[in-house]
Amino acid sequence: MRDERMHAASICLEPTESKQMPYEPPVECPLCRETLELDQTLETHLVGSHTQREVARYLASLHERVQPRSVSN
Ligand SMILES: [Zn+2]
Repeated sequence: MRDERMHAASICLEPTESKQMPYEPPVECPLCRETLELDQTLETHLVGSHTQREVARYLASLHERVQPRSVSN
C-alpha cells in the first residue's frame, strides 16, 4: 500500500519540462561589461578580445580592492 502511494507521488513530481536544459543567465565580461554570446565562454572572450595585460591589470586591481585600506587605525 505504502509503496504504491510513493510511486504515484514520484510520478507527479516528474514533469516533462524538467528534462529541458536549465536556463543559464548570460555571462558578462567584467572588463568591458559586454554580454557574451551563449556559445562563448568568458575565457574565450578574454583570450580573443583582451590582451594579457588587460586581464592582468583587472585581476591586480581586483586583488588590491579586496585588501582593507584602513591605514588610519
Ligand atoms: Zn570583455
